[in-house]
Amino acid sequence: MKIAVVGTGYVGLVTGTCFAETGNTVTCIDIDQEKIKKLQNGQITIYEPGLEQLFERNTKQGRLTFTTNLSEGIKEAKMIFLALPTPPGEDGSADLKYVLKVAEDLGPLLTEYTVIVDKSTVPVGTAEKVRAKIATGCKVEFDVISNPEFLREGVAVEDFMKPDRVVIGTSSEKAKKITETLYAPFVRQGNPVIFMDERSAELTKYAANAFLAAKITFMNEIANLCELLGADVDAVRKGIGTDSRIGKRFLFAGIGYGGSCFPKDVQALAKSSKDAKYDFKMLNAVMDVNHSQKTKLVPAMKKYFGGSLKGKTIAVWGLAFKPHTDDIREAPALYNIEEFLKEGATVKAHDPEGAENVKKIFGDKIQYTETPYQAVEGADAVFIATEWPEFRTPDFDKLSSLLKSKVIFDGRNLYELQMMKDLGYSYFSIGREAVNG
Ligand code: NAD
Repeated sequence: MKIAVVGTGYVGLVTGTCFAETGNTVTCIDIDQEKIKKLQNGQITIYEPGLEQLFERNTKQGRLTFTTNLSEGIKEAKMIFLALPTPPGEDGSADLKYVLKVAEDLGPLLTEYTVIVDKSTVPVGTAEKVRAKIATGCKVEFDVISNPEFLREGVAVEDFMKPDRVVIGTSSEKAKKITETLYAPFVRQGNPVIFMDERSAELTKYAANAFLAAKITFMNEIANLCELLGADVDAVRKGIGTDSRIGKRFLFAGIGYGGSCFPKDVQALAKSSKDAKYDFKMLNAVMDVNHSQKTKLVPAMKKYFGGSLKGKTIAVWGLAFKPHTDDIREAPALYNIEEFLKEGATVKAHDPEGAENVKKIFGDKIQYTETPYQAVEGADAVFIATEWPEFRTPDFDKLSSLLKSKVIFDGRNLYELQMMKDLGYSYFSIGREAVNG
């Protein structure tokens, strides 16, 4: 099948590449000329495990091409996927200007029946708006369907190739058949393609992300309570996670969720609720708690250093909002670096993939190092913001020889308390006893 993907970011590039991998001919379109030039030259534009290999194979075999020209890119496409940004507007709602602009542009360009697929995360009612925009300039039959994307950055290829489920919102039998054929190779192991009405499909994506954000936030509140009551959040996590009704995942306490999706999607759902005159109290609590959780370790750090961070050097381990990605959008690390700089501290940061993106925000206000140990050289403390695997078992002897004071502030609970006690470190984490070495 000939497919076009409009918007070649995290979702668009993974979607396009994976559809090419199953034999479709895919053109990815973007307005960012530099991005498209790089992709045309065989250079991948995001870090995502496993993507580069698929990208190389499919571009070499001519199934995956890139263009900035919408009309050229959608030529003969049976399906056009919209993987465009839906960032938060000033009032917290999802800003639909990118999606609706492309919809408007598409209308006059369609020459035969086409299925337009909303893959972006969009509020309930967007498919209707997209349909209306296309219809103004369109002379042929078309369908607009909702197909929210559930991939996780860091494991996006795996998630896309073997999704837990595919959600399709449409009432058109014709669109349903085409979509079913396209997704068949991805659900061979029996995972369901769930068809529903388009409004429910649109809401499903927000409900999933808000539920997961709430699960993380609930556990962070339990962690905060553990600190006050002298309990250990890791023990509580194991105690409840083994209950099959609760499940083991998304129960790790830490310095909050970030990323390009959870913060904006929770906010957008809260706004949709407000517009519908429904007071979704839980969502507001989730946003409030997550906001304060991000910089939760800063007061502990100030207290440790006698009330101020002025003149201190902090080694920040991890910048990306989670491991295995270079995405730093809404990353808790950024909020903490902001606080450290405000306090008059110097920051030396290391991240395996995220540094280039952080340079665009902080420039030379902070230092960037090639290795985690270079960040620690001469630092007063280590601050861990992201649970990259290479931070899990560092050489603690080397660390203590490089650090001015043997102290770690761990926003991701990477180390066993007993081990830190035995090693003589001062160690502050989330929802667990503070270790004063
Ligand atoms: P992104 O910012 O990485 O990519 C969007 C791309 O669209 C950019 O490359 C941008 O240049 C391009 N673009 C903007 N206007 C355009 C236009 N008029 N024509 C062509 N291209 C245009 O965003 P993303 O992370 O891929 O997210 C896209 C959508 O998918 C969002 O709605 C997001 O909420 C949703 N989503 C994201 C993830 C994720 O993990 N990133 C997961 C599921 C769903």
